[in-house]
Amino acid sequence: MSMEHKIRTLVRSEIRALSPYHVPAAGDVIKLDAMENPYGWPRGLVDEWLASLGDVPLNRYPDPAAGGLCARLRQAFDVPADMGLLLGNGSDELIQMLAMAVAGPERTVVAPEPSFVMYRMIAAYVGMDYVGVPLSGADFSLDMPAMRQAIQHHQSALVFLAYPNNPTGNLFDDAHVHEIIETAPGLVVLDEAYTAFAGRTFMEHLGRYDNLLVLRTVSKMGLAGLRLGWLAGAPAWLAELDKVRLPYNINVLTQATAEFALDHLDVLTEQTEQIRADRDALFDALDGMPGVEPFPSQANFILFRVSAGTATSVHQGLLSAGILIKDLSAAGGTLADCLRVTVGRPEENARFLEVLRGLV
Ligand SMILES: *Cc1c(COP(=O)(O)O)cnc(C)c1O
Repeated sequence: MSMEHKIRTLVRSEIRALSPYHVPAAGDVIKLDAMENPYGWPRGLVDEWLASLGDVPLNRYPDPAAGGLCARLRQAFDVPADMGLLLGNGSDELIQMLAMAVAGPERTVVAPEPSFVMYRMIAAYVGMDYVGVPLSGADFSLDMPAMRQAIQHHQSALVFLAYPNNPTGNLFDDAHVHEIIETAPGLVVLDEAYTAFAGRTFMEHLGRYDNLLVLRTVSKMGLAGLRLGWLAGAPAWLAELDKVRLPYNINVLTQATAEFALDHLDVLTEQTEQIRADRDALFDALDGMPGVEPFPSQANFILFRVSAGTATSVHQGLLSAGILIKDLSAAGGTLADCLRVTVGRPEENARFLEVLRGLV
């Protein structure tokens, strides 16, 4: 039997049908495609961090419960005292743990579309059905009749709501979110990856709903390389999810570095404040540019539409000038002719605007 034949018969068809998560090689470009914080730390802080790592016992397995880190996360991000925390190697891993814990025949993940692509990908990994419900109209709000219908009809095991949503940048209407939590028969996960830029959260509502979990990450606030996410919610849920966690998923360097970073949270907060202000300036500049329609964003990126049929050539033109953003136009539908730019440093944003002006 040929290897190709073995692959075809052995690898599940839904896995063979997936495209690998594509990350373009960055090289020497202005990188505005992945919602990274463009700022590093001041030299003195880097030295202090490096010195602190000298004591980390690399020969030992990490603290499996990451107790010290959990305590700091609770304090820094106002996790209610009676709620638990579960850590993941990025919030992606927590999405995967959630799916693994509830997967089974006729178990469905529901999410609005467009939204974060990993909800669909991970549903496929674990063999769950996935139902994407198109966002409505021009403002990317939740289509509530369609969401109600999908949740009821499929008796959703998991609903994911990115708040603010990626790639559209908007916050969903709070009343809509509350209604979804109240009507969903299964879990509702509020994915607050961009909360640092939105200043809004459902954390305070955890005690009110027994099917709500709040997902966070340090990635977008300036520590994407660390790979650390956390899920907050009722300890009884988290105790079950913890059973599908691989032991020692948060390595010693991540634990030590995250603790150090949280002790200096003011540095990251200052950077995210700067990014928020620059986002608003970038929005105004895009809004004033003929041939460009930006959509209001509460995150650290802006989705914008260009003239019909030109998105891919605009994307390529930017790349030729050394600027990498994200082309979302291939998805069509609500994302037809749409590109997404991450807010960079002021000089990066200015260069992006200058090149874009010549392309639209
Ligand atoms: C970037 C992103 C994540 C992934 O976060 P990691 O912690 O880096 O895995 C999760 N959810 C949304 C909506 C995102 O945009």
